[in-house]
Amino acid sequence: MKAVYIEAHGGPEVLTYGDLPEPHLLPHHVKVRVRASALNRLDTYVRAGQRGQRRPLPPPHILGGDSAGDVVEVGDGVVGLAEGDRVVINPRQSCGQCVLCLAGDDDLCSHTTFMGSNLPGSYAEYVVVPAANAHPIAGNVTYESAAAAPTTFLPSWNILVRKAQLKPWETALVLSASAGVGTAAIQVASNVVGARVIATTSTTEKAEMARNLGAGEVINYNEEDVTERVKELTGGRGVDVVLDHVGAEFFDRAFNSMAPGGRYGICGVTAGFRAELNLGALFTRQQQVFGVFMGSKEDMRQIVEMLNRGVIQPTVDRIFPLSEAAQAHTVMEDRGFFGKLVLQP
Ligand SMILES: [Zn+2]
Repeated sequence: MKAVYIEAHGGPEVLTYGDLPEPHLLPHHVKVRVRASALNRLDTYVRAGQRGQRRPLPPPHILGGDSAGDVVEVGDGVVGLAEGDRVVINPRQSCGQCVLCLAGDDDLCSHTTFMGSNLPGSYAEYVVVPAANAHPIAGNVTYESAAAAPTTFLPSWNILVRKAQLKPWETALVLSASAGVGTAAIQVASNVVGARVIATTSTTEKAEMARNLGAGEVINYNEEDVTERVKELTGGRGVDVVLDHVGAEFFDRAFNSMAPGGRYGICGVTAGFRAELNLGALFTRQQQVFGVFMGSKEDMRQIVEMLNRGVIQPTVDRIFPLSEAAQAHTVMEDRGFFGKLVLQP
Protein backbone atom coordinates (compact mmCIF):
# COMPACT_ATOMS: atom_id res chain seq x y z
CA MET A 1 0.00 0.00 0.00
CA LYS A 2 1.02 3.65 -0.39
CA ALA A 3 2.08 5.33 2.85
CA VAL A 4 4.10 8.27 4.13
CA TYR A 5 6.83 7.19 6.54
CA ILE A 6 10.15 8.26 8.03
CA GLU A 7 13.41 6.32 8.23
CA ALA A 8 15.25 9.11 10.05
CA HIS A 9 14.20 12.17 12.10
CA GLY A 10 14.46 15.59 10.46
CA GLY A 11 12.64 18.29 8.49
CA PRO A 12 9.70 17.76 6.10
CA GLU A 13 12.18 16.30 3.57
CA VAL A 14 12.46 13.04 5.59
CA LEU A 15 8.78 12.24 4.83
CA THR A 16 8.88 9.49 2.21
CA TYR A 17 5.91 8.56 0.03
CA GLY A 18 6.32 4.93 -0.95
CA ASP A 19 5.12 1.33 -0.68
CA LEU A 20 4.85 -0.61 2.58
CA PRO A 21 3.06 -3.90 3.40
CA GLU A 22 -0.62 -3.63 4.37
CA PRO A 23 -1.34 -4.18 8.08
CA HIS A 24 -2.83 -7.56 9.10
CA LEU A 25 -6.31 -7.87 10.57
CA LEU A 26 -6.52 -8.94 14.24
CA PRO A 27 -9.41 -10.26 16.38
CA HIS A 28 -11.60 -7.44 17.80
CA HIS A 29 -10.08 -5.08 15.18
CA VAL A 30 -11.27 -3.66 11.87
CA LYS A 31 -9.27 -2.90 8.75
CA VAL A 32 -10.08 0.55 7.36
CA ARG A 33 -9.37 2.00 3.92
CA VAL A 34 -8.26 5.50 4.90
CA ARG A 35 -10.00 8.30 2.96
CA ALA A 36 -8.69 11.26 4.97
CA SER A 37 -5.95 11.77 7.54
CA ALA A 38 -5.65 15.05 9.47
CA LEU A 39 -2.37 16.58 10.58
CA ASN A 40 -1.58 17.36 14.20
CA ARG A 41 1.33 19.11 15.88
CA LEU A 42 2.31 15.70 17.25
CA ASP A 43 3.07 14.56 13.67
CA THR A 44 5.73 17.25 13.30
CA TYR A 45 7.25 16.34 16.69
CA VAL A 46 7.40 12.65 15.71
CA ARG A 47 8.96 13.57 12.36
CA ALA A 48 11.57 15.80 14.01
CA GLY A 49 12.16 13.49 16.99
CA GLN A 50 11.30 16.28 19.43
CA ARG A 51 9.34 16.41 22.70
CA GLY A 52 9.91 12.78 23.68
CA GLN A 53 9.16 11.47 20.18
CA ARG A 54 12.67 10.19 19.30
CA ARG A 55 12.47 6.53 18.27
CA PRO A 56 14.72 3.85 16.80
CA LEU A 57 14.73 4.14 12.98
CA PRO A 58 14.59 2.22 10.69
CA PRO A 59 12.33 0.20 10.43
CA PRO A 60 10.16 2.74 8.59
CA HIS A 61 7.58 4.44 10.81
CA ILE A 62 4.23 5.66 9.38
CA LEU A 63 3.10 9.03 10.75
CA GLY A 64 -0.42 10.28 11.42
CA GLY A 65 -3.09 9.96 14.10
CA ASP A 66 -6.53 11.25 13.14
CA SER A 67 -8.28 9.60 10.22
CA ALA A 68 -11.57 8.49 8.68
CA GLY A 69 -12.43 5.92 6.04
CA ASP A 70 -14.34 2.77 5.10
CA VAL A 71 -14.34 -0.52 7.00
CA VAL A 72 -13.11 -3.14 4.52
CA GLU A 73 -12.62 -6.14 6.83
CA VAL A 74 -13.97 -7.08 10.25
CA GLY A 75 -12.01 -9.26 12.70
CA ASP A 76 -13.34 -12.10 14.87
CA GLY A 77 -15.35 -10.96 17.87
CA VAL A 78 -16.27 -7.51 16.48
CA VAL A 79 -19.81 -6.36 17.20
CA GLY A 80 -21.65 -3.36 15.80
CA LEU A 81 -19.45 -2.74 12.76
CA ALA A 82 -19.69 -4.18 9.27
CA GLU A 83 -17.83 -4.01 5.99
CA GLY A 84 -18.72 -0.80 4.19
CA ASP A 85 -19.33 1.29 7.32
CA ARG A 86 -17.91 4.82 7.12
CA VAL A 87 -15.99 5.50 10.33
CA VAL A 88 -13.88 8.07 12.14
CA ILE A 89 -10.95 6.64 14.09
CA ASN A 90 -9.94 7.65 17.62
CA PRO A 91 -6.12 7.49 17.39
CA ARG A 92 -5.61 6.88 21.10
CA GLN A 93 -5.84 3.26 22.21
CA SER A 94 -6.17 2.08 25.81
CA CYS A 95 -5.67 -1.40 27.32
CA GLY A 96 -9.32 -2.02 28.25
CA GLN A 97 -8.20 -4.14 31.21
CA CYS A 98 -6.72 -1.91 33.91
CA VAL A 99 -8.80 -0.56 36.81
CA LEU A 100 -9.00 2.88 35.18
CA CYS A 101 -10.22 1.49 31.85
CA LEU A 102 -12.77 -0.67 33.64
CA ALA A 103 -14.01 2.36 35.56
CA GLY A 104 -14.55 4.27 32.29
CA ASP A 105 -11.54 6.53 32.94
CA ASP A 106 -9.70 5.14 29.94
CA ASP A 107 -8.14 8.54 29.20
CA LEU A 108 -6.06 7.88 32.36
CA CYS A 109 -4.94 4.39 31.24
CA SER A 110 -1.19 4.01 31.74
CA HIS A 111 -0.92 1.40 28.98
CA THR A 112 -2.16 3.84 26.37
CA THR A 113 -0.75 3.94 22.82
CA PHE A 114 -1.18 6.50 20.06
CA MET A 115 -1.33 6.03 16.30
CA GLY A 116 1.55 7.70 14.51
CA SER A 117 3.55 7.99 17.74
CA ASN A 118 4.17 4.53 19.23
CA LEU A 119 1.84 2.72 16.78
CA PRO A 120 1.86 2.76 12.96
CA GLY A 121 -0.03 5.85 11.82
CA SER A 122 -2.74 6.89 9.39
CA TYR A 123 -0.71 8.48 6.56
CA ALA A 124 -1.49 5.28 4.67
CA GLU A 125 -4.08 3.59 2.48
CA TYR A 126 -4.98 1.08 5.22
CA VAL A 127 -4.95 0.93 9.01
CA VAL A 128 -6.01 -1.81 11.45
CA VAL A 129 -7.56 -0.48 14.66
CA PRO A 130 -9.51 -1.87 17.64
CA ALA A 131 -13.22 -1.87 16.81
CA ALA A 132 -13.79 0.27 19.92
CA ASN A 133 -11.77 3.05 18.25
CA ALA A 134 -13.87 3.14 15.06
CA HIS A 135 -17.09 5.19 15.23
CA PRO A 136 -19.67 5.19 12.41
CA ILE A 137 -20.27 8.60 10.84
CA ALA A 138 -23.49 9.81 9.20
CA GLY A 139 -23.83 10.01 5.42
CA ASN A 140 -23.69 13.81 5.39
CA VAL A 141 -20.37 13.97 7.29
CA THR A 142 -17.38 14.08 4.94
CA TYR A 143 -14.28 11.97 5.59
CA GLU A 144 -12.18 15.16 5.75
CA SER A 145 -14.44 16.72 8.34
CA ALA A 146 -14.56 13.54 10.44
CA ALA A 147 -10.77 13.06 10.28
CA ALA A 148 -10.35 16.60 11.59
CA ALA A 149 -12.36 15.83 14.74
CA PRO A 150 -10.64 13.51 17.26
CA THR A 151 -7.49 15.29 18.44
CA THR A 152 -9.08 18.73 18.36
CA PHE A 153 -12.47 17.90 19.88
CA LEU A 154 -11.40 15.31 22.49
CA PRO A 155 -9.39 17.71 24.69
CA SER A 156 -11.91 20.52 24.08
CA TRP A 157 -14.76 18.25 25.18
CA ASN A 158 -12.82 16.86 28.14
CA ILE A 159 -12.02 20.39 29.41
CA LEU A 160 -15.27 22.24 28.66
CA VAL A 161 -18.00 19.61 28.97
CA ARG A 162 -16.68 16.93 31.33
CA LYS A 163 -14.19 18.59 33.70
CA ALA A 164 -15.07 22.31 33.80
CA GLN A 165 -18.79 21.64 33.28
CA LEU A 166 -19.23 24.91 31.42
CA LYS A 167 -22.81 26.17 31.65
CA PRO A 168 -24.92 28.09 29.08
CA TRP A 169 -25.00 31.21 31.27
CA GLU A 170 -21.21 31.23 31.70
CA THR A 171 -18.37 32.69 29.62
CA ALA A 172 -15.41 30.77 28.22
CA LEU A 173 -12.09 32.19 27.02
CA VAL A 174 -10.57 30.19 24.16
CA LEU A 175 -6.91 30.97 23.46
CA SER A 176 -5.52 30.98 19.91
CA ALA A 177 -8.68 30.46 17.94
CA SER A 178 -7.03 29.61 14.64
CA ALA A 179 -5.40 26.31 15.64
CA GLY A 180 -7.41 23.10 15.35
CA VAL A 181 -8.14 22.90 19.09
CA GLY A 182 -9.19 26.56 19.14
CA THR A 183 -11.70 26.05 16.33
CA ALA A 184 -13.08 22.96 18.09
CA ALA A 185 -13.29 24.62 21.50
CA ILE A 186 -15.25 27.60 20.14
CA GLN A 187 -17.83 25.21 18.64
CA VAL A 188 -18.12 23.05 21.76
CA ALA A 189 -18.52 26.07 24.03
CA SER A 190 -20.96 27.89 21.77
CA ASN A 191 -22.87 25.23 19.75
CA VAL A 192 -22.94 22.35 22.23
CA VAL A 193 -23.05 24.15 25.59
CA GLY A 194 -24.56 27.45 24.45
CA ALA A 195 -22.11 29.52 26.49
CA ARG A 196 -20.70 32.93 25.63
CA VAL A 197 -17.28 32.64 23.99
CA ILE A 198 -14.41 35.10 23.95
CA ALA A 199 -11.54 34.00 21.71
CA THR A 200 -8.05 35.36 21.15
CA THR A 201 -6.17 35.42 17.86
CA SER A 202 -3.48 37.36 15.99
CA THR A 203 -5.04 38.89 12.85
CA THR A 204 -8.26 40.58 11.73
CA GLU A 205 -8.84 37.82 9.17
CA LYS A 206 -8.56 35.05 11.79
CA ALA A 207 -10.82 37.06 14.13
CA GLU A 208 -13.54 37.08 11.48
CA MET A 209 -13.25 33.30 11.06
CA ALA A 210 -13.44 32.81 14.83
CA ARG A 211 -16.66 34.88 14.91
CA ASN A 212 -18.13 32.74 12.15
CA LEU A 213 -17.49 29.64 14.28
CA GLY A 214 -19.40 31.07 17.23
CA ALA A 215 -17.08 33.38 19.16
CA GLY A 216 -19.12 36.36 20.41
CA GLU A 217 -16.01 38.48 20.90
CA VAL A 218 -12.48 38.14 19.61
CA ILE A 219 -9.40 39.79 21.10
CA ASN A 220 -6.38 40.45 18.89
CA TYR A 221 -3.57 39.66 21.34
CA ASN A 222 -1.05 41.60 19.25
CA GLU A 223 -3.04 44.81 19.62
CA GLU A 224 -4.99 44.51 22.87
CA ASP A 225 -4.25 43.56 26.46
CA VAL A 226 -6.11 40.26 26.89
CA THR A 227 -6.69 40.62 30.65
CA GLU A 228 -7.95 44.20 30.41
CA ARG A 229 -10.18 43.47 27.42
CA VAL A 230 -11.73 40.40 29.11
CA LYS A 231 -12.46 42.50 32.19
CA GLU A 232 -14.19 45.12 29.99
CA LEU A 233 -16.23 42.49 28.17
CA THR A 234 -17.35 40.78 31.38
CA GLY A 235 -18.19 43.84 33.42
CA GLY A 236 -15.03 43.45 35.52
CA ARG A 237 -15.84 39.87 36.53
CA GLY A 238 -13.66 37.73 34.28
CA VAL A 239 -14.38 34.45 32.51
CA ASP A 240 -15.63 31.26 34.16
CA VAL A 241 -13.57 28.83 32.10
CA VAL A 242 -10.30 29.14 30.18
CA LEU A 243 -9.29 26.65 27.50
CA ASP A 244 -5.52 26.85 27.01
CA HIS A 245 -3.81 24.72 24.36
CA VAL A 246 -0.73 26.91 23.92
CA GLY A 247 0.93 27.00 27.36
CA ALA A 248 3.39 29.41 28.97
CA GLU A 249 3.23 32.33 26.53
CA PHE A 250 -0.30 33.41 27.48
CA PHE A 251 -0.68 31.80 30.90
CA ASP A 252 -0.39 34.98 33.05
CA ARG A 253 -2.77 37.00 30.89
CA ALA A 254 -5.34 34.20 30.71
CA PHE A 255 -5.07 33.20 34.38
CA ASN A 256 -5.60 36.82 35.42
CA SER A 257 -8.70 36.93 33.20
CA MET A 258 -10.52 34.34 35.36
CA ALA A 259 -13.47 35.10 37.58
CA PRO A 260 -13.67 33.83 41.17
CA GLY A 261 -14.48 30.11 40.97
CA GLY A 262 -12.95 29.93 37.50
CA ARG A 263 -11.66 26.70 35.97
CA TYR A 264 -8.50 26.71 33.84
CA GLY A 265 -7.97 23.68 31.58
CA ILE A 266 -4.68 23.04 29.78
CA CYS A 267 -4.32 20.60 26.88
CA GLY A 268 -1.18 21.72 25.10
CA VAL A 269 2.10 23.57 25.52
CA THR A 270 3.05 24.50 21.96
CA ALA A 271 4.22 27.91 23.25
CA GLY A 272 6.18 26.79 26.32
CA PHE A 273 6.15 24.35 29.26
CA ARG A 274 6.73 26.47 32.36
CA ALA A 275 4.64 29.19 33.92
CA GLU A 276 4.44 30.83 37.34
CA LEU A 277 1.26 30.20 39.31
CA ASN A 278 0.04 32.78 41.83
CA LEU A 279 -1.02 30.42 44.63
CA GLY A 280 -2.49 33.32 46.62
CA ALA A 281 -4.88 34.19 43.81
CA LEU A 282 -5.65 30.51 43.25
CA PHE A 283 -6.91 29.86 46.77
CA THR A 284 -8.47 33.20 47.64
CA ARG A 285 -10.36 33.25 44.33
CA GLN A 286 -11.11 29.53 44.68
CA GLN A 287 -9.97 28.65 41.19
CA GLN A 288 -8.87 25.39 39.61
CA VAL A 289 -6.06 24.66 37.16
CA PHE A 290 -6.04 21.22 35.56
CA GLY A 291 -4.62 19.33 32.61
CA VAL A 292 -6.19 16.90 30.16
CA PHE A 293 -4.66 14.70 27.50
CA MET A 294 -7.16 13.85 24.77
CA GLY A 295 -10.35 12.33 26.24
CA SER A 296 -12.17 9.12 27.05
CA LYS A 297 -13.91 6.71 24.70
CA GLU A 298 -17.23 8.03 26.00
CA ASP A 299 -16.15 11.62 25.21
CA MET A 300 -15.44 10.41 21.65
CA ARG A 301 -18.85 8.76 21.38
CA GLN A 302 -20.54 12.00 22.48
CA ILE A 303 -18.47 14.05 20.02
CA VAL A 304 -19.37 11.76 17.10
CA GLU A 305 -23.05 12.05 18.08
CA MET A 306 -22.77 15.86 17.81
CA LEU A 307 -20.82 15.52 14.55
CA ASN A 308 -23.49 13.26 13.06
CA ARG A 309 -26.26 15.68 14.10
CA GLY A 310 -24.39 18.60 12.51
CA VAL A 311 -24.02 20.49 15.80
CA ILE A 312 -20.25 20.64 15.34
CA GLN A 313 -18.41 20.95 12.03
CA PRO A 314 -14.65 20.49 12.21
CA THR A 315 -12.86 23.26 10.33
CA VAL A 316 -10.78 22.03 7.40
CA ASP A 317 -8.39 24.59 5.95
CA ARG A 318 -6.82 22.64 3.08
CA ILE A 319 -6.68 19.15 1.59
CA PHE A 320 -3.46 17.73 0.13
CA PRO A 321 -2.88 14.44 -1.69
CA LEU A 322 -1.02 11.98 0.59
CA SER A 323 2.02 12.25 -1.69
CA GLU A 324 2.32 15.95 -0.68
CA ALA A 325 2.57 15.31 3.06
CA ALA A 326 5.90 17.16 3.20
CA GLN A 327 4.27 20.30 1.81
CA ALA A 328 1.45 20.00 4.34
CA HIS A 329 4.02 19.77 7.17
CA THR A 330 5.71 22.92 5.87
CA VAL A 331 2.38 24.79 5.89
CA MET A 332 1.69 23.58 9.45
CA GLU A 333 5.07 24.80 10.69
CA ASP A 334 4.60 28.20 8.99
CA ARG A 335 1.28 28.62 10.89
CA GLY A 336 -0.45 30.15 7.85
CA PHE A 337 -3.71 28.23 8.21
CA PHE A 338 -7.03 28.22 10.05
CA GLY A 339 -8.33 24.84 11.22
CA LYS A 340 -7.04 21.50 10.02
CA LEU A 341 -4.76 20.36 7.22
CA VAL A 342 -5.90 17.06 5.75
CA LEU A 343 -4.19 14.41 3.59
CA GLN A 344 -6.08 12.22 1.11
CA PRO A 345 -4.56 8.80 0.34
ZN1 LIG B 1 -6.16 0.62 30.73
